[in-house]
Amino acid sequence: MIKRVLITGGAGFLGSHLCDNFLAKGAKVIAVDNLITGSMTNIEHLIKNPRFEFIKLDVTNYLHVPGPLDLVMHFASPASPIDYARWPIPTLKVGALGTHKALGLAKDKKAIFALASTSEVYGDPEVNPQPETYWGNVNPIGPRGVYDEAKRYAEAMTMAYHRYHGVPVRIVRIFNTYGPRMRTEDGRAVPNFITQALKGKPITVYGDGSQTRSLTYVSDLVDGIDRLVRSKETGPINIGNPVEMTLLEIANTIKKLTKSRSRIVFKKLPVDDPKVRRPDITLARKLLKWEPKVPLEEGLKRTIAYFRRIL
Ligand code: UDP
Repeated sequence: MIKRVLITGGAGFLGSHLCDNFLAKGAKVIAVDNLITGSMTNIEHLIKNPRFEFIKLDVTNYLHVPGPLDLVMHFASPASPIDYARWPIPTLKVGALGTHKALGLAKDKKAIFALASTSEVYGDPEVNPQPETYWGNVNPIGPRGVYDEAKRYAEAMTMAYHRYHGVPVRIVRIFNTYGPRMRTEDGRAVPNFITQALKGKPITVYGDGSQTRSLTYVSDLVDGIDRLVRSKETGPINIGNPVEMTLLEIANTIKKLTKSRSRIVFKKLPVDDPKVRRPDITLARKLLKWEPKVPLEEGLKRTIAYFRRIL
């Protein structure tokens, strides 16, 4: 039974949705965040909840709380390419030192440890779709290396604590996820395209737009993670929507749904931008009985409504 959960990155996009999830299921939740990319507005609706607590803290330095914990979720990290380019060293530190601190806390509390890993561990993949058995194609010294290698190291550290200390762990490899509470300025494709479309500004497609991504709506992701932490599976396990689209198709879909008159313009493709990405979710289907439910247009409509409100 998960009665008390600590979530690092609890004021972030995914972290705050996870806080909502565990509070709704009756648990006590402690959100920890240093607020470099997280925001109090993501959790302001929870502040008055007596089962919710927020601690402003950089988890790379220190992490401890009094009382029992059943689950420690390490979800703190800059997560968009422009964020980790802006904060390369904090990104490396939170993946390395932060994972170590969070694992230490889980070990001390005899709690389950859940790691937010990423499809970025597959780098620019040479196999498509990507099964969990694929080792990846990552450039360690490129601009994305700070995130990719930090997450790969975090997986290695997590497995070492599991094997050496017997900590029960759950590793989720998260594919591109979108939804309300993404920052308008976070630089990822979905918030950029929606913000640009709503403001009537040019929609910036990088490269020729033929690169692909597979977009997961946030409630589907949270459901997958919830099932994983309540299961006995260590993972790593891919959670993502296998519907693969080109970026140009995604841009056109957003333009249509916002009824925008924005033009689509083509900009330089970022260094090491993966050409394809699509999760193989055979394992999640089989072991967690999970699959995504929210179709892209439905998820985008909800996300567009959120961006209309905050813009
Ligand atoms: N992208 C784009 N225009 C933007 C932002 C991103 O065409 O304004 C592209 C980016 O080059 C990549 C894809 O969209 O091919 C997804 O980028 P994002 O930053 O959302 O996440 P990534 O999957 O690269 O981590």
